[in-house]
Amino acid sequence: MKNHLEQLRTQTLETIAKAKTVQELEALEAQLLGKKGELTTLLKGIKDLTVEEKQVVGKMTNELKKDVEAALLCRSEELRSSQYDHLKDQFFDTSLPGTRPHPGRLHPLTKFIREIEDTFMALNFTVAEGPEIEDDYHNFSALNIPEDHPARDMQDTLWAKHIPYLLRTHTSPVQIRYMESHEPPIRIICPGRVFRKDDVDATHSPMFHQFEGLMVDKTTNLTHLKGILTIALRRLIHPDLELRFRSSFFPFVEPGLEVDVTCVLCAGKGCSVCKQSGWLEMLGCGMVHPNVLKSAGLDPNVYQGFAFGAGIERLLMIKHKINDIRLFYENDPRFLEQFPLV
Ligand SMILES: [Zn+2]
Repeated sequence: MKNHLEQLRTQTLETIAKAKTVQELEALEAQLLGKKGELTTLLKGIKDLTVEEKQVVGKMTNELKKDVEAALLCRSEELRSSQYDHLKDQFFDTSLPGTRPHPGRLHPLTKFIREIEDTFMALNFTVAEGPEIEDDYHNFSALNIPEDHPARDMQDTLWAKHIPYLLRTHTSPVQIRYMESHEPPIRIICPGRVFRKDDVDATHSPMFHQFEGLMVDKTTNLTHLKGILTIALRRLIHPDLELRFRSSFFPFVEPGLEVDVTCVLCAGKGCSVCKQSGWLEMLGCGMVHPNVLKSAGLDPNVYQGFAFGAGIERLLMIKHKINDIRLFYENDPRFLEQFPLV
């Protein structure tokens, strides 16, 4: 009997240690300690033994039962803790920051065009648009640009196969189209794409953006032009901007003026970009030429007005100290992401 118990003990503990799953272990437990289990039956049989046998065998059996229970518990804990072992290789740190998404954003040119529109709409201007494919009349003749003006030269203008059509070289034809169909008072701003037969370099592109302004009424004068441009450019570029008006010549205005602004790079102190002058050329403007008003069907003896036109890329380049116009068209995220999202 003693030998049998020893054998049973060795065998049982070995089997428990070899159990590979919790389910296997549970089955083993039932087999040993269940109602009809091996150990249960043994314990039940103790009562039929002699007093001497009870003392030895009974004690051994009870000890065996305790050891088996302890072994079962121990193996069970081992199995439970190791059932997630395979996940150790797939460790995932939930405290790590997530992958940052790259949200879409408006192109800096689109954003700036909207800022220009907002600025002038706050000054009671309306946004007007015109066709990008123009005719010779609206792009040149109606704007008092004579037949022999160099702007008409094949070098500058991208002519369509079927003359007189062309890709507009400036946004000024929108002035004519608007005056042809609207009565003064007129206050419009026209942003849009323009096209020139230029080679691409750091400051030239065959396609770029301009915005045109036009204000026509019976008493509109240069003071209005100066006031409006000062308010608008200070809001669009820098609140401390100073403006300087120089006389110049454009066929569609008389008098013609060029506007310089304080160099934003050196704050007017003088640097290599402004050629030590402290000023940067910003835009062309002037009082609308009587011939232009006449072309658009307005009486120059009754109405007068001012017009201005500026390159949008040039303004943005001055504002953000950008040294190459090509950056606007290359769609390099490293450039685009430097501008705020909204
Ligand atoms: Zn400067």
